[in-house]
Amino acid sequence: MNPYSTQCIDTDDLKAVQQALQGAHLAQGPLVERFEGALADYLGVKHVVVCTSATTALFMLYHALDLANAKVITTPLSFVATASMLLANRATPIFCDIGQDGNINPALLENCLESGIKAVVSVDYGGASVDIEAIKSFCAKHSLLFLSDSSHAFGGEYCGAKIGGLADASVFSFHAIKSITTAEGGAIATNDGALYTRLKLLISHGVEKNGWDTEVQSLGFNFRMNELQAALGLSQLKKVDAFIAKREEIACLYDHLFKDNPYFTCLHATLSPKIKSANHLYPILLKPHLWEKKTLILDMLVQAQMGVQVHYKPIHTFKLYQDLLGTQGLPKAQDFYKAEISLPCHTKMSLEQATDSAKKVLSILKSVAESC
Ligand SMILES: *Cc1c(COP(=O)(O)O)cnc(C)c1O
Repeated sequence: MNPYSTQCIDTDDLKAVQQALQGAHLAQGPLVERFEGALADYLGVKHVVVCTSATTALFMLYHALDLANAKVITTPLSFVATASMLLANRATPIFCDIGQDGNINPALLENCLESGIKAVVSVDYGGASVDIEAIKSFCAKHSLLFLSDSSHAFGGEYCGAKIGGLADASVFSFHAIKSITTAEGGAIATNDGALYTRLKLLISHGVEKNGWDTEVQSLGFNFRMNELQAALGLSQLKKVDAFIAKREEIACLYDHLFKDNPYFTCLHATLSPKIKSANHLYPILLKPHLWEKKTLILDMLVQAQMGVQVHYKPIHTFKLYQDLLGTQGLPKAQDFYKAEISLPCHTKMSLEQATDSAKKVLSILKSVAESC
């Protein structure tokens, strides 16, 4: 089975982890600091804090920015953690519908305004940046924080600038199947020094050190990354541009092989030239006459050894969210869910495998369309 995404680990990664395992420190140590510095350099931001996952990164970020009891505009088309960490902070998500690219639609943000909103949290769906200029100017106009869950987009760019320094703070995931991996892991990038100081306290029990004396003025946790993860991250970071180039090559090949097909459109082929996607996903969107056949199509693709997935069931349609917030209609996100299938796209795939996958997809869709 060729999965929709998987990690790429080489002998340098193995050596780096083995060396770290034999080092003097396993938990906190110099590699964690070095990884944070290397990430800040790569992203072109002042500060990076690494932690155990993007989920804990989101939790800490919302907590550090005091979003408790606030309302926050966010996207329904994401992994559930983007919104559930708001709930964990007793904040209320206000879901804004999406545009053609699967990202929050800036033209609909004004409709979401109500009293008590403090922030916008966007997601770079599939690895392609949101419309930074539009969201930034909306946030500036209404004095809102602009936070980015860029878990799909490490290494992606907007107008030639790396995603990571474009919002007030950006969150990344180093989960096994993201651009680069530390097995599990996450990071927050920001140019805000005061926010950085608060995050450093939150991540490690709120303990402030002053010589031999320690003080705790605020609640903290242990969400720290360890030295083994940082060693793997440093080694993976050296290869990120090659990883992204490979994913882009596969995405362009798919675009070419699927051009003008009668069954679906390819999200990657429609991206604005301003955007360089990290291609965490390669989403295709079935044409409406095939929506009711999607389960059958997914089953047939899996039977053909393709590890396809669906991203995402919109968060506002989950039972927890309906119980808390009531039933909402966000037609674009709901249609996207009816149409979307993520095809295999990752660094370990060959172009031959991609060509083979494309042929399977077209032949399965042909047979399903003919039986309609
Ligand atoms: C993967 C992902 C997360 C969660 O990342 P973890 O590191 O697994 O906690 C959050 N948001 C989005 C958009 C993701 O894709």
